[in-house]
Amino acid sequence: MASISTVIASRAAARQSRGRGTGRFAVGLGGLLRRAAPRNDGRLAAAFALAVCVLLFAGLPARADEAADLHRRILTLDTHVDIPEDYATPAHDPSVRGDMQVDLPKMREGGLDAAFFIVYVAQGPLTEEGYADAYGKAVAKFEAIHRQSALYGDQIELATSPEDVERIVAKGKLAACIGVENLYPIGTDLSKIEEFYRRGARYMSLTHAGDDQFADSANALGHLDEPSPHTHGGLTDLGRAAIAEMNRLGVMVDVSHSSEQSTLQAIAASRAPVIASHSALRALNDIPRNLSDRALKALAAKGGVAQIVAFDNYLKMPPPEKVAATKALREELGLTSAEAWRDITPETRATYMARLKQLHAKYGRASVSDLVDHIDHAVKVAGIDHVGIASDFGGGGGIEGYDDASQAPNVTRELLKRGYSEADIAKLWGGNLLRVWRAVEAAADKPEQ
Ligand SMILES: [Zn+2]
Repeated sequence: MASISTVIASRAAARQSRGRGTGRFAVGLGGLLRRAAPRNDGRLAAAFALAVCVLLFAGLPARADEAADLHRRILTLDTHVDIPEDYATPAHDPSVRGDMQVDLPKMREGGLDAAFFIVYVAQGPLTEEGYADAYGKAVAKFEAIHRQSALYGDQIELATSPEDVERIVAKGKLAACIGVENLYPIGTDLSKIEEFYRRGARYMSLTHAGDDQFADSANALGHLDEPSPHTHGGLTDLGRAAIAEMNRLGVMVDVSHSSEQSTLQAIAASRAPVIASHSALRALNDIPRNLSDRALKALAAKGGVAQIVAFDNYLKMPPPEKVAATKALREELGLTSAEAWRDITPETRATYMARLKQLHAKYGRASVSDLVDHIDHAVKVAGIDHVGIASDFGGGGGIEGYDDASQAPNVTRELLKRGYSEADIAKLWGGNLLRVWRAVEAAADKPEQ
């Protein structure tokens, strides 16, 4: 804990020194005003300065924004940010405030210090050709995340340990971690887990939509809103071996997207704590993709953490009219099969997202208050040490009030309103995840770097 408070103190200092830019600007303005004021009349100059001060501070609340201040003081980490395949190229440049929900300007604006950028590849056929194709796409995403820190190393650095995250953030920079969503691209070759680890991955999920070679998913192949056929009844032998390999390396096992059986079996099989990198709760929205209270308790008992996700449909069941309109939209765009979702073009994705936005405007969607309802319930069931926050930005995440990284302080504001202390909010925004990561590292038998 000492290291965390050191980080907070030094980070506050770093921010203060950055804040001096504003200070210098203010001094500069004062000098300008003094020069503008008549030189020989002190009283007039004082009155003039007073008037300027009144003008400058008019409109500001008498009390500073407590939530914004608290948000700036703590270390904040989002465990799930998806990226497009052409990330960190001129088409999707993270240094520019563009249309991605997370970019470097939005992270700084929202005081979001660190994020797990995601190597996600959709499931294809469980064949050597399918695996090879997905593996190539996974490697391209690793390269994109590395390209980001290579291009913009003055702003963001790659973090492969909890110490890295704290050290980088203490310098006043942003930290980029890597998570793998869907182990499908490694095929049946478990040595690729170490390869992905060496490429920087520090958590890996067993499945996405579709039962794969490792485990049953929560959902059917290619469909996040249809239940899985439960092909294996939980984990396969290969899935158990993959978990053992992740434990050996110090990679966090992620059960988000897994079926409840797979989740409970993975928690039991892992010798280190397990995470759910982006999930919501069945107690508040009873869909297969969400964590049951039983799974949540098992996750906590093992020392893990459930990162509650700001994902509209996971937090709140949409009205039937919205479900029907979304289905009609998918049919119109031909997005009705796993293959169609896997091979979706950037143009079709953009059209889908734009039209989905219209449906959100028409029928409403989950809010920050709904997100914190799920956090409240998770804290009640699992305890404050076993809950965190994720966005799934770039992968379908985004709710009213937290629709991109720049709006992260709104979550802190709601937590504060509900009575969470600063220490609790710091745990939720990354403290718990870093603790679990450390525990997973401590349980590992790590290879030499
Ligand atoms: Zn996901």
